[in-house]
This record gives sequence, structure tokens and C-alpha cells, in this order.
Amino acid sequence: MKLVFATGNKGKLREASEILGAEFELLSSAQAGITEDVEETGLTLEDNSIIKAEYIYSRTGMDCFADDTGLEVDALGGAPGVMTARYAGEGCRFEDNMNKLLAELEGVENRTARFRSVVTLILGGEKHFFEGVMEGRIALRKSGHEGFGYDPVFIPLLSREEAVQILNDLGLPLSGQEWVDRLGECTVAEMPEEVKNAISHRGKALRLMAAWLKK
Ligand code: IMP
Repeated sequence: MKLVFATGNKGKLREASEILGAEFELLSSAQAGITEDVEETGLTLEDNSIIKAEYIYSRTGMDCFADDTGLEVDALGGAPGVMTARYAGEGCRFEDNMNKLLAELEGVENRTARFRSVVTLILGGEKHFFEGVMEGRIALRKSGHEGFGYDPVFIPLLSREEAVQILNDLGLPLSGQEWVDRLGECTVAEMPEEVKNAISHRGKALRLMAAWLKK
């Protein structure tokens, strides 16, 4: 079955292909002939994921899906939320966003936060929604070089038991995984990509979609 993923991000495409498996042939927006970016004018993550999926569907008529992600920080009343990508301004870099977030949270004790992803799937013209959440908190400073976006400042809520189970499921040895001993202070950018995909908001939403599609 062919599905277009409304993204130009190779990492996201690879992650979604792995999660959906060989029964699905995934195409990026560009591979489906869409090279321009659609403006994300929605007020919620759901709105924006609908805008992105509808854009692909209206131009290609193909079954497709789109995701939209926001970081919700409790001490900031859920901000940056739908503004996550452009928190420090239009065209800002990941570094600018993280610096702004750390500055806003300077001296703040409650640093709980979560990533929320909403996936809109358009199948035969009908919309279906899937949501995934990764709970955690914002670190006091950046650490790690893996991943992208806010990964160097996001400490996921993950127990040692869960981490060991994930490594087991992935067939990875526990030895050499120093980050397991630093859970609670270790950021997502210090974890292997496969582990992040197993716990991430987007990974969870995509796995829910994959399970639904396979039914
Ligand atoms: P998007 O909707 O997937 O484009 O995500 C919006 C913004 O959220 C991105 O520009 C990143 O700054 C941030 N973001 C999304 N997913 C992640 C993640 O897995 N780790 C860190 N930051 C992320």
C-alpha cells in the first residue's frame, strides 16, 4: 500500500518506514511531486496536521498522513505548544529556541514538560487521528548531540526497568549504555536514536497509526 508522508525530513521518513514495515511504501512530499511548504496557520497541533495532510491530498489524491508536534511546558502555561518550531521567531535555529526556553525557565523549579504529536491520516478521503506523548522535564542546560530540535534540553521520564526492556526489545546489549545509569538527568540527545524512537511522541503516534492500518 502506498502512503505519502507530508514531510521532507529524511529522519522522520526513515523512522516512519521502520515503524510501518515493508507492507507500506512510503513516499515523501517531494516524491509525490509536492516541493513547496504549506503555511502552518492552525491554532492547534491537530489543525496544523490537518492542514499539511489536506494539502497533499488535495494535490495528489493519494492516501497520506502528516504530523505536527509541540512542546508543552507546564510552568509556561503549555507554551511554546503550537509555536514550538518558531518559538524564538520566524526562521530561528534550534539553538535559538533552546536558549530562549532556558532563559524563560531560569530559576524556575517546576520544569515538567511533554512533547505531543498529532498525526492526521487521510485514507480514501476520510480523516483519522492518532496522538502520542512523551513526558519529561526541561534540563538546566544543554547536553548531548543526537537527535534534533529540543532534544539536548529534554529529559524524558523513563525508569531503569523501562530502559532495560526497550534495549531488550531492540536486541541491544545493556553494557556500554552509560546513559541508563544517568536516567533522570540524561537528555534525549544523549540516547541512541533507536531508543528515542521507541519512547518518542511521534514514534508512539505512528505506532498507533500502524496498528490501526494493519487491522
Ligand atoms: P514538527 O511539527 O515535527 O515540525 O515539530 C515542530 C518542532 O518541534 C520542531 O521544529 C522541533 O523544534 C520540535 N520537535 C519536534 N519533534 C521533536 C523531537 O523529537 N525532539 C526535539 N524537538 C522536536
